[in-house]
Order: sequence, then structure tokens, then C-alpha cells
Amino acid sequence: MTKPLAFEIRDSAISGKGAFAIRPIAAGERLIEYVGERITHREADRRYDDDSMDEHHTFLFTVSSRTVIDATHDGNESRFINHSCEPNCESEIDRGRVFIFALRDIAVGEELHYDYAYERSGDETDKDEEQYRCRCGTRTCRGSIMEAKEAFHRRRQEKRRARKEAASA
Ligand SMILES: [Zn+2]
Repeated sequence: MTKPLAFEIRDSAISGKGAFAIRPIAAGERLIEYVGERITHREADRRYDDDSMDEHHTFLFTVSSRTVIDATHDGNESRFINHSCEPNCESEIDRGRVFIFALRDIAVGEELHYDYAYERSGDETDKDEEQYRCRCGTRTCRGSIMEAKEAFHRRRQEKRRARKEAASA
């Protein structure tokens, strides 16, 4: 038997559908595994041609330099969790599997989100910028769902440090 989900999917102000807490969630709780068909980057590029798409690849999750999860196929509710630059959840990759954790306590009714941090390649076109524009509306919104790899790791480490300090205070 699987544990019932701590959230449900309904319409979101951020984009399309979103995931909303239906019971109080504790910081650090593992909420769901991000699943779907495991494909190569080349296959992902073949399936989703940027030039013919108006929106970013919402249902793709990059696991490694080799593997992408395409949640359009065999995906679960995790694919509806939206991006935010100031998220209350985060994704963790553990031996090739992807899990979504709560970063802090979350109240009933709050929308769940994590930072997609799509990697910036450095040769993005204006069209890419438009497709990956962020409209999360948070105070620290960086204006894009993309982020340079170094910036992402730096930010993640700073957050870890802050959490540790908060925990030991
Ligand atoms: Zn944002």
C-alpha cells in the first residue's frame, strides 16, 4: 500500500495546474518521487523541439548528463508541481532517482513548488529567454526558470548552511 499524497492537483495562478497541500507538511518530508519514462537528452530534444513550442518543457527532469525523465509518459502527480524562485520544496537526486522534499513546514492550501533551475548553456536565444521566463512573482524572482550551474550550486550550498545554522541555534 502506498501512502496517500499530502497534496492534490488543481488550477494554479502560476501556470495551468499546480500541487496544493491537503494536510500540514513538515520540513524535510519526502513528498513524492518524480517518475516517468527515462530517455536520453538526444531523445528529449527529438521529442520536444523548442522552436515549435510556446512554453518550456514542463514535464522533463534532467537526472544526469545521460538521462532525462519525461513525465509526459508514465508520469505521476509530481509533474504538476510548479517552479518558483523562492520554493518551499526541493528536488534531490538519489542514485538516479528523483524525490521531492519539503524545505520548510507547509500549511494546508499552500501551493508546492521547487526551483527547476534549468541549466543555462550560455547560448540562449531571445526566444529561449521568452520561453523560460519566470512569472513566479516572489520577492527574489530572478526572472528566468534557467540558471547557470555554478550559481545554482552556490545558492544550494548557502541554503544548506543556513538550514544547518538554524537547526543548531
Ligand atoms: Zn521566479
